Amino acid sequence: MNMKAVGSLYLVSTPIGNLEDVSHRALRVLRDVRCIAAEDTRRTRTLLTHFGIHNHLESYHDHNKRQKTPVLIEWLESGRSVAVVSDAGTPGISDPAFYLVRESIRRNIPVIPVPGPVAAIAALTASGLPTDRFVFEGFLPVKKGRQKRIRALEKETRTLILYESPHRLLKTLKDCREVLGNRPMAVCRELTKRFEEIQRGTIDELTRHFTGRKIQGEFVLVIQGNNKKNEKFHTNSNYTR
Ligand code: SAM
Repeated sequence: MNMKAVGSLYLVSTPIGNLEDVSHRALRVLRDVRCIAAEDTRRTRTLLTHFGIHNHLESYHDHNKRQKTPVLIEWLESGRSVAVVSDAGTPGISDPAFYLVRESIRRNIPVIPVPGPVAAIAALTASGLPTDRFVFEGFLPVKKGRQKRIRALEKETRTLILYESPHRLLKTLKDCREVLGNRPMAVCRELTKRFEEIQRGTIDELTRHFTGRKIQGEFVLVIQGNNKKNEKFHTNSNYTR
């Protein structure tokens, strides 16, 4: 039987801010693979340089994923292993790695996760809202389908997790308030970074907190699911670093 050796596709999680969150295994894999497919090669280069790794980088992002996927698949099928990393966190979570994973599976290429930080999970666990059942919604659509998506969440009883950009934070709070009501929630900003901030309260309270401020950084919103029990937050544990 002529068995051709294929490489493996490693999904390597990288820090969402604090470089100490990188795992030993992630660094070893990033050192050992033949090529690292990175969403933002400059950002990944900074990470690699910090840890003394000088490996080959290929850009792999939303705008070139269709052209780059066959190239990476060819590498993998010729026996070379590839690591895929996103800007930050776990590849495939609100970033283009999914496309490459699906194609690799279709071609019988082993896909190996190297787990680590995910902003959604860091936010959920610190939110104080139920963690036993949750729904990750990623980014809401900016225009078309936005209201429909929020309405579809109205009856959802599991804790809701959303990603949001700073300039849409207040709009998202307003849109969620209109459809979901004034629920308890947590806004988690710049997790693991210098200006980390976790604010817990109702949607109205957090809207007031962020209104009139310069809103900067990266955000995860964690919102209580639709259940009668209103989580009582001890808001004195809210903080900004
Ligand atoms: N793959 C990443 C992960 O595992 O979390 C997510 C990538 S997605 C393109 C980027 C979004 O994740 C940001 O807009 C923000 O909503 C969230 N995010 C990433 N890093 C964060 C951080 N340090 N604090 C809060 N939110 C963060």
